[in-house]
Amino acid sequence: MKRIAVLTSGGDSPGMNAAIRAVVRQGIAEGMEVYGIKYGYKGLVEGDIELLDTASVRDQVARGGTFLYSARYPEFVQLEYQLKGIEQLKARGIEGVVVIGGDGSYHGAMRLTEHGFPAIGLPGTIDNDIVGTEYTIGFDTAVTTAVDALDKIRDTSSSHNRTFIVEVMGRDAGDIALWAGIAAGADDICIPEREFKVENIVKRMNEAHKQGKNHYLIVLAEGVMHGEELAEALKRQGDLSDLRVSVLGHIQRGGSPTVRDRVLASRMGAHAVKLLKEGKGGLAVGIRHEKLVENPILGSVEEGALMSINPDGSIKVNFPHEAPIELYR
Ligand code: ATP
Repeated sequence: MKRIAVLTSGGDSPGMNAAIRAVVRQGIAEGMEVYGIKYGYKGLVEGDIELLDTASVRDQVARGGTFLYSARYPEFVQLEYQLKGIEQLKARGIEGVVVIGGDGSYHGAMRLTEHGFPAIGLPGTIDNDIVGTEYTIGFDTAVTTAVDALDKIRDTSSSHNRTFIVEVMGRDAGDIALWAGIAAGADDICIPEREFKVENIVKRMNEAHKQGKNHYLIVLAEGVMHGEELAEALKRQGDLSDLRVSVLGHIQRGGSPTVRDRVLASRMGAHAVKLLKEGKGGLAVGIRHEKLVENPILGSVEEGALMSINPDGSIKVNFPHEAPIELYR
């Protein structure tokens, strides 16, 4: 394979630039030409494609966002658009593509492979919700950002004896909430993977107050409900006039990637190039127990699940370095 391309698609995540850089540098080291496709599948279909060189990715490893830009392009679910995209690639002699994005982007990559055009997926999303990998590119940075914010909120929460609900991102996954909540020592963590009852939170809050604790920090995953909704529900059950809600929002998607995300992205990017060189497509790169692995791009959900529910309802978190930790709350 002499020419490959790389694109970023869906929501951006810190570390995407480091991944692009690794694809470009590894590709050049393997004697390939590497093209950058701007605006994800939109740029693919419209032919917004340019040759990248070593200098194009200079100074990118530490930058958040994606210098190739990203886009949501629902048209790409249609066969006609997929074939148009492949035409654009073939017209330039490009023989394989690396797609960095979330599960939606993986579907696009799978379609390309099904039409005979090899594509390799890299998990670029802060949500950590991709099958077959313990970590996605950007998750560590997003959690670090969330913890930084939680630490600050804790300061003001304790100064004013206030209860805070902090809503974090993650779509349908509770990973950001769980990790950030543990790291920041939150009093309660609400995640979509586990059923929760408002009255149980109230009970725990009352218990904490009885023990002399006058502030309370609740981390809420956006996949459960909005912070304001939970605040309303809590207020209906008790005197919580001093309750405050903070929605962290898009700050979790930006910023310079952590060391962990930079290294993960770099390893995965280089690995994707090697897979394409071997003529492989339809695979997603993941990490398990610190080793790079490949899975069919649309593999089974159970396979890579970071979290699972124990029979007693507690949550099992599979950390890569340690025995699974159990959370009982
Ligand atoms: P994030 O997890 O950050 O939202 P994502 O990759 O899941 O990232 P989506 O918006 O779901 O984000 O998907 C990104 C793009 O992938 C879509 O805009 C579309 O171009 C393409 N895509 C999504 N689903 C499909 C599909 N079923 N077939 C072909 N292409 C798809």
